[in-house]
Amino acid sequence: MDFNDSIEEAAFREECREWLTENAPRKERPDEVFGRGMSAAELMQAAREWQGRKAEAGFGAITWPEQFGGRGGSPIQEVIYRQEEGNFKVPVGAFNVSLGMVIPSLFVHADPEVSKQHVSDALHGKELWCQLLSEPGAGSDLGMIRTRAERCSDGRDGWIINGQKVWTTLAQFADCGMVLTRTDPDVPKFAGMTTFFIDMDAPGVEIRPIRQANGDAEFNEVFFNDVFIPDNQRVGEVGGGWKVTLTGLMNERLSIGGVMPPELWRTAIKQMQDCDLGYGQSYGQGDNRTALQDSAMRQQLSDLYLNAQGLWLLQCRGLTALGQGREPGAELSVAKIVAARTLQDFSYFAMDMKGTQGILTAEDLGDSWQLVEQLWMGAAGMRIAGGTDEIVKNNVGERVLGLPPEPRADKGMTFKQLLG
Ligand SMILES: Cc1cc2nc3c(=O)[nH]c(=O)nc-3n(C[C@H](O)[C@H](O)[C@H](O)COP(=O)(O)OP(=O)(O)OC[C@H]3O[C@@H](n4cnc5c(N)ncnc54)[C@H](O)[C@@H]3O)c2cc1C
Repeated sequence: MDFNDSIEEAAFREECREWLTENAPRKERPDEVFGRGMSAAELMQAAREWQGRKAEAGFGAITWPEQFGGRGGSPIQEVIYRQEEGNFKVPVGAFNVSLGMVIPSLFVHADPEVSKQHVSDALHGKELWCQLLSEPGAGSDLGMIRTRAERCSDGRDGWIINGQKVWTTLAQFADCGMVLTRTDPDVPKFAGMTTFFIDMDAPGVEIRPIRQANGDAEFNEVFFNDVFIPDNQRVGEVGGGWKVTLTGLMNERLSIGGVMPPELWRTAIKQMQDCDLGYGQSYGQGDNRTALQDSAMRQQLSDLYLNAQGLWLLQCRGLTALGQGREPGAELSVAKIVAARTLQDFSYFAMDMKGTQGILTAEDLGDSWQLVEQLWMGAAGMRIAGGTDEIVKNNVGERVLGLPPEPRADKGMTFKQLLG
């Protein structure tokens, strides 16, 4: 395992660092968060502008092929860029779904004319795309989607879509979306689906933001009421929707994983130093004690530290493999669930330490609380997005450990039969 950059990687890191230094303010603290006090619309606008500048400079889509405006770079270059960008105060994440999942499916499966029309605008942040897969009755098992697309019966060359999607990230800001529909209920569930792309302003598309506990609306419900889609907005073959979806999901699993902020345990130590447990004197142990002096608290910190270090080593192993042109090993499959759980545990730990003050926000507790707050709000979602903990464990059981597969009672049945 190699912990250091190769000569080429070090040169690329330097190139990223130079460009970032010229184009963005450096974070004053490692846990500083971009956009505090900005509205969601302002954040989105800032993210579009930043994406545009990255794209102009050749950092907008590092691993994409050059013919689509990418750099034709390696996954390790993508990781290096992200590590360096993490030191600067810039908007991150808004284009993860659009550029990391949806557009790569588009340029693999859509007509080249469609790619020509949309890929460059998406890369430069002018178009944001959302992914319309999950429904109230279909998430882990997308084979159960019910949103129907039926051929127009009035002579138009197109389809009419009816149904509902849910948990659609950033749909309220999206210009276009990629939607998975059921086109044939009389064949097995994965064979009867077709993908289309859709203008989010098209008549009959209704977007209802879902308000979260922190007041933000990261996701939406999206309803389709007799929405017309011309056939030239079909992506891939009729009945080939699952293939298109898998291209996006493969990219999602690659992009979720190395999510452990390196500053996490340092932030935890700082929180512990600042936390006066206030009981030293009453136990005849001299001055009041901080959480860092408490053995039970230190035990919790060491668990957190060990998880973070273990994940870092796994990441190094995966990156070494990628750097040498090999595939990362199966152990990376579990990295996503351990990372999400560790982040969640960290936020619970920090909040418990504050006692009753733990329910306050960064507005009251100061900027150093921003990371805790963000993780508490977001880590639970990370345990669901890109495959829930249970689904990932099932996959690891079957594909890595070679355990017997789950019984699949739906084998050979048509979708209509499954509905009963
Ligand atoms: C942050 C975030 C962003 C998202 N963004 C999008 C988006 O942009 N577009 C989109 O389409 N969707 C999006 N989703 C939805 C996401 O893909 C689904 O929430 C996820 O696939 C789980 O599906 P579900 O919510 O329907 O839960 P279900 O599949 O109903 O699962 C419910 C519970 O049952 C368990 N379970 C289900 N099946 C099994 C099994 N076979 N064995 C054991 N346990 C099982 C699950 O682990 C879970 O605990 C997002 C979700 C999150 C959290």
